[in-house]
Amino acid sequence: MAFEGLTERLQKAISGLRRKGKVTDADLRETMREIRLALLEADVNFEVVKTFIKTVRDRAAGTNVLEGLNPAQQIVKIVDEELTKMMGEEAVPLNKSPKVPTVIMMAGLQGAGKTTTVGKLALKLKNEQKARPLLIAADIYRPAAIDQLEKLGHDMEIPVFSMGTGVNPRDIVKQGLAQAAENKNDYVFIDTAGRLQIDELLMDELADIKTIAQPDEILLVIDAMTGQNAVQTAEGFDQRLDVTGVVLTKLDGDTRGGAALSIRAVTGKPIKFVGQGEKMTDLDVFYPDRMSSRILG
Ligand code: GDP
Repeated sequence: MAFEGLTERLQKAISGLRRKGKVTDADLRETMREIRLALLEADVNFEVVKTFIKTVRDRAAGTNVLEGLNPAQQIVKIVDEELTKMMGEEAVPLNKSPKVPTVIMMAGLQGAGKTTTVGKLALKLKNEQKARPLLIAADIYRPAAIDQLEKLGHDMEIPVFSMGTGVNPRDIVKQGLAQAAENKNDYVFIDTAGRLQIDELLMDELADIKTIAQPDEILLVIDAMTGQNAVQTAEGFDQRLDVTGVVLTKLDGDTRGGAALSIRAVTGKPIKFVGQGEKMTDLDVFYPDRMSSRILG
């Protein structure tokens, strides 16, 4: 399970305070040291940890005055509130265009879960809003990606626009958008190519697709299992594309959780959804407060 190690270590860090009626400076220092190590070990970004610890320490320094809660409860409450803040505080909904279609472009490294997430999101919109999305298959470099999207579309009865692998993705997007206009689709998803690492040619292509499609939403799909690298990847894509939101996938695996905790703080971009499995229904809106409660156990 995700966060298992982090939950255990945070609980242990705070348990030392449980029997204390009053927290000395030394107690607080020791607790904060352990919380810091727990976060670093969970792969939370170093700078993010530094800021977090300072904020919690400053707030906790006044804990003895709060009535009604014992010191351990007060620290848990502060850590909970600050973890929530670090992840963005509120759930942020998908952007929606005032006139149809709303265009959603996906970006991310190969294997991050772009194609799967397109399927999950399109199905969610179809089920919840009776939306009529069109999925554009613009990843021509991984032939299986087009087949995969076509199969998903077929299974979910959602149309897929593809032109095979022999056409420039920029042209596929142009023609796909024309088809969406003709068919009056209310949502368009553009499944783009990824590579194993960020490279310039890929970024140029994505930047061109952005210019052509003028998307209302650019969702960066990040594999939560990639730890520290997830933050660098997110920064790389964001610098070039100015993404509007993040989807964290594979949160059902035993990720240490650092990506979930750092991405918002480092990029300033909201995590909008989390992928929690391979099935098409395994996608959830990201609620920072619920995630924080889950982490604290
Ligand atoms: P793409 O290259 O970015 O399009 O990645 P894919 O959508 O093909 O996903 C790569 C692999 O990750 C596939 O085997 C997916 O089933 C799997 N995957 C995607 N999202 C999740 C998730 O949230 N949880 C799990 N466990 N697997 C996922």
